[in-house]
Amino acid sequence: MLEWKVNVRETIPYVPGEQPQEGNIIKLNTNENPYPPAPKVASMAEQMDTDKFRLYPDPDVGMLTDKLAEYHGVNSNQVFVGVGSDDVLAMAFLTFFNSDKPILFPDITYSFYKVWAGLFKIPYSNPSLNRDFTINIQDYMVPNGGIVITNPNAPTSLYEPLSSIEDIVKANPCSVVIVDEAYIDFGGESALSLIEKYDNVLVVRTFSKSRSMAGMRIGYAVGNEELINALKSVKLSYNSYTMNMPSIILGTESVEDEQYFQSTLAKIVNTRENVKEQLEAIGFSVLESATNFLFATHERVSAESIFNDLRKKGIYVRYFKTPRIDNYIRITIGTDEEMAIFMEEITKLVK
Ligand SMILES: *Cc1c(COP(=O)(O)O)cnc(C)c1O
Repeated sequence: MLEWKVNVRETIPYVPGEQPQEGNIIKLNTNENPYPPAPKVASMAEQMDTDKFRLYPDPDVGMLTDKLAEYHGVNSNQVFVGVGSDDVLAMAFLTFFNSDKPILFPDITYSFYKVWAGLFKIPYSNPSLNRDFTINIQDYMVPNGGIVITNPNAPTSLYEPLSSIEDIVKANPCSVVIVDEAYIDFGGESALSLIEKYDNVLVVRTFSKSRSMAGMRIGYAVGNEELINALKSVKLSYNSYTMNMPSIILGTESVEDEQYFQSTLAKIVNTRENVKEQLEAIGFSVLESATNFLFATHERVSAESIFNDLRKKGIYVRYFKTPRIDNYIRITIGTDEEMAIFMEEITKLVK
């Protein structure tokens, strides 16, 4: 029975944070932005010419690619746009990690990397972060088939100095080093400055967090033209029209609205620092965050019980029952109003 099963590709899928469909909850579990996308996005959404939907979208995503190239001061042939950074990262794994040597990424980082490595049968090895969750760069000075570093890291929220990233890139000319900068707009210096100097670094960004557009699924990579061409070849060998027309149009509008973008970032960073202080005042240790979330552990009360009890109150945070971090909760920064309610409830739980 079910003899075909021997030929099925077995995978262990990534488990995203919950997306509860009922209203009235305070959702601090998947690092979404609590503020709406730029006003230009809303006005363009109203004006969109739906007759155009008859046609296939531009397989090269030209308009958005050009806009991002202009924004970052690079050439359009140094930018690759995909359906969220998950799509860009998956394509990059498929394109660049084709060696018998293991690829390297830390034991504590974005948990999707393991899933893609499994799916694409890429061997991998996971050097342990130091006790304080910083990277030991020597761990990346060994033979490897590629490297992925999330900076700032998730779920720890810590930023590694750009000099460490550069040392890793420099020491590995035979490997592509992917720097996942999903959170870089909230703190730290980008590795984009390295792409002119090194041909083996690929910087990956997303519109999901800092640009409040998780629902539109927009991500991109910036790197040397040869890297981008290799990515495009694989992508166009898989599915030409991944990115839909509204995402291309609305993503472009978002990049136009720099002032709104900066003001939203500033609000979140300000709220983050206030909440960090308040959590420390009630017995939490909170890592130094360069992101739109906080990673915190309490001196007495277990993270798992805090997670469950908050959930009962309709406040969702993220909890990872995995070694080394199973006594931490990850809290996405919401609006000041949401965080006030969160603080009120969490204070009761640790009294
Ligand atoms: C959220 C996140 C992503 C995925 O973002 P999308 O663009 O929504 O696919 C990738 N990497 C890290 C580290 C993230 O936190």
